[in-house]
Parts: sequence; C-alpha cells; structure tokens
Amino acid sequence: MPQNTKTKILATIGPSSATREQIEKLIDAGADAFRINFSHGTHAEHKERVGIIRKLEKEKGIYISILADLQGPKLRVGVFSSDSVLLKAGQKFRLDLDEAPGDVTRVNLPHKEIFAALKPGEDLLLNDGNIRLHVDKCGKDFADTTVVVGGVLSAHKGVNLPNTQLAISAITEKDKDDLKFALKLGVDWIGMSFVQTADDVRQAKKLIQDKALLISKLEKPSAMEELDEIVQLSDAIMVARGDLGVECPVYTVPVMQKRIVSACRKYARPVIIATQMLESMINNPTPTRAEVSDVATAVYDGADAVMLSAETAAGHYPTEAVSMMHRTIENVEADPLFYTLMRSSRMQPCKASEADSITFAASEVSCVLKDVAAIATYTTSGFTTFLTARERPDLPIIAITQTVEVARRLALVWGTKSFINKDSFKSFDKVEDAAVKIALKNNFAKHGQNLIITAGYPLAKKGMTNLLHTVHIP
Ligand code: PGA
Ligand code: MN
Repeated sequence: MPQNTKTKILATIGPSSATREQIEKLIDAGADAFRINFSHGTHAEHKERVGIIRKLEKEKGIYISILADLQGPKLRVGVFSSDSVLLKAGQKFRLDLDEAPGDVTRVNLPHKEIFAALKPGEDLLLNDGNIRLHVDKCGKDFADTTVVVGGVLSAHKGVNLPNTQLAISAITEKDKDDLKFALKLGVDWIGMSFVQTADDVRQAKKLIQDKALLISKLEKPSAMEELDEIVQLSDAIMVARGDLGVECPVYTVPVMQKRIVSACRKYARPVIIATQMLESMINNPTPTRAEVSDVATAVYDGADAVMLSAETAAGHYPTEAVSMMHRTIENVEADPLFYTLMRSSRMQPCKASEADSITFAASEVSCVLKDVAAIATYTTSGFTTFLTARERPDLPIIAITQTVEVARRLALVWGTKSFINKDSFKSFDKVEDAAVKIALKNNFAKHGQNLIITAGYPLAKKGMTNLLHTVHIP
C-alpha cells in the first residue's frame, strides 16, 4: 500500500489524469487525496472524476479525500482561437469584454469590475505573473496595453492586479453554483480561493453548513494580516504559493510559508503546501534538485500535505511526479532528524480543553512508555485526530470513526489512517477490543506491544475526548 507516509500527497486531476487508468496509477504511486479544480473543466467532467475516485477507493479498501477547489474571484482571460499566442515585449495587446476567441492582438477579459477600476499607468500581470502588460488607455469595456514582459499566453490564464483595488466579493456567483454541485457530489473538502479576511471564511462556512470541511487558500497579502483568526475559523489551510508569489514579492513567500505552517500547528489545522513543487516535471521525467529540496523542506517543516497542480493535471509525467514526491517524503521520514524536528517544534496547546490535554498527553506517553505501536483516536467529527496529529508523534495515528465522510476527510491529515467502526459500545472493554483488533489486523501492532487509546467517556456522549488509556496487547 503506497499510502504509507505521514505526509500526504494531494494531486490535482486534469486532462492528464482524468481516466480510470490514470487515476489508479496516481493512487498506486502514492496519492492520498485529489483536487478537483473548478477553475477548469465542466460539471459533467468533475462528476465523472469523482465517480472514478469513489469506485477506486472502494476497490482498494482505502479512504481518499476529494477537494473541490472553487475558483474564487480569480481573474482570468478568455479563450483563444489557437492553443496559445506568443506576446512579444513592445507590442500592443487589447483586453476587452468581447467573448469572441482571442488572437495575438486581443483577448476577452470577462470581468467588468477590472475595467471599472483600471487606470492608465497601471500594470496587469498574466499567467502567474510571467507576462506584464502596461495600461495605455482604457474604457468601461476595454484596455489597450503595451506588453512590457512577453511570453506564451493560453486560455483561462490568471490575471493579477497588484496595484488596483477591485470591488469583488470573495465568493462569486460561479462559486455558489459550483459549491452546490460539489456538495451534491459528496466531496470532503471545499477550497476557497483568494481569502482576504476572516469574514470571507465565516461567509463560506455558512454556505457549506458542515456538509464538507473548508480549506482557506492563502494567496492574498491581506490574509496574512488576519492569519491567526483565519486559521482558527478554517478547517485547514493551503499555502497557495502560485498567486501568493504574484501578489507579493516572490522572495517573501518562504517566510510566509513558515509562518502559516507554524500557525496551523499551533491551532491544529492541517496545512497543505501547494504550487510549483515539481513544476519542471510538467515536461520532464525528473525534477530539478531544487524542486526535490522544496518538497523535502515542506516535509521537514511538518506540513500535512504537499500538492501537485499542473504536474498531474496537465503534465506529461503525472505518475512520475507523484512517485517522485512519494519517494522524497519516504526518504525524509526515514531520517531520524525528521522526528527530532517534529518533537522540538511541538507547542503547548493554546486552548485548555480536555481534548487538547488528552491528545498532548498521549504524545507524551508515547515518548515514555516502551514499545508503543500506535495511537488510536476515537473521533466523531475528526477534530480529536487533528489534535493528535498536531503533536506529530513518532507513531501511526489510527482514527476510528463512525462515518465514511470523516474517514475520507482525515486522508489529508498528517500521519493518520482511518477505520470505520459503527458499533455503539456498551463498555470500555469493547472500545479497547475494537482498537486492538484494528491495529493487529492492519499490521499497525504486534502481540506484546502497547497501544495508546483516546476516547470520550461516558461512551454514549459524543464529541468529548477526555480519556487516555494504554493497553498491552497480550
Ligand atoms: P490555484 O491555487 O492553483 O487554484 O491558483 C494555488 C495557488 O495559487 O498557488
Ligand atoms: Mn491560486
């Protein structure tokens, strides 16, 4: 089973990875979770892909997280009549509201808010900031620009306006429609793009109504100003380095990455490092040394998951990219320094709840007691498992839960393997028996070893972890 690392792999599905055969290869190479990107593709395509993943997870007897990533107020150009165009520095290029396919002289920019706010003298950045256009003249439905930095531009590439204030809401009409559809498909996580404020997160949570968990994508400088509040209100965080590195100077991104990971550890929220991790593998079967090092650094930092975007969605080597990531993770996690770093970066729980104390204590016990095989956490919502994972213990975390929804959500969480047990336990002996049985059956424990169990007591009362128990497996 390749799903054996602490750090999880989130792979984006796209044209290079849309068939059953391709998705199965990604799972076999080590993908733990998939991102369905609502910035591209149709609802029918998304539905088909979700269906394939659900079939495969059943066949393979594992739980896979599916993230529906909403486009958010991401500004994009329209389509071209050819695959792409080459813009050259110095040439003129027009952006307008005309939906006709573009060419080397113009393209559709379907956002009237941009034209309303844009002023001559401002710059537009296209395609992850690689192309820079300088606005010469503009009106309510067009902008005439000069290309300052040229490059290849293709359909739906992103547009960033680093120095223009836009009156655009965090959740667009398209997002609302996509969200409804994604929830109907039964996805596990919703990704919210371009979160700017804590209020954006509150608004999204209200719309999702606990039907899925929320990942806030941090890709705007303003989100960093409310970082702690945004992390606490969200269920997980994505360090969306693509847009973050366009909106902010790219050399400031590594420091922000460390700050975000640290805030997520503090508040026990899973954190995903995303974008350009193995970018050169879009076109090459092997990555650059720097890219492998970037993946390794994210693992050493204690990220819950690392993400592949175009590498698996549109690249030529999707399976190789997942496999490279998987082997990189395995190597780091086999380094004794990895657990030294995990231990030394443990923080005192910031809340004084029973669950925080018990999960912290479980990790302490695992450092003292000899021959502990795993920590088994009984969890209703999955949150106790977030807390257990926050401690980054040098042991497998076994999450025992009642619903497939929670089991799937936890596939994105550091070090966690989920199992479903629907029994309503009459006595604690039965809780212990079930955990031991799961641990033995799935090769997490051997006879003669110890198991640490956390649960809520009284057993009938759900949602309060207040019990820590060690059991010697005879
Ligand atoms: P995207 O988000 O791929 O949806 O743009 C990730 C990022 O911006 O890094
Ligand atoms: Mn983005």
